[in-house]
Amino acid sequence: MDKYRCGRCGKTFDDDKLKVLPGVRCPYCGYNIIYMIRKPTVKVIKAI
Ligand SMILES: [Zn+2]
Repeated sequence: MDKYRCGRCGKTFDDDKLKVLPGVRCPYCGYNIIYMIRKPTVKVIKAI
């Protein structure tokens, strides 16, 4: 399951919370810019 993070309030939520609301909006503050977070793999890119 993917996780999402709100672009304004920064809260994270699962995609089942997104389906409750019409459109893609933060369930907490209603903001419509949502970032997808891939939960299990956190990619760290090291600058050389
Ligand atoms: Zn929000």
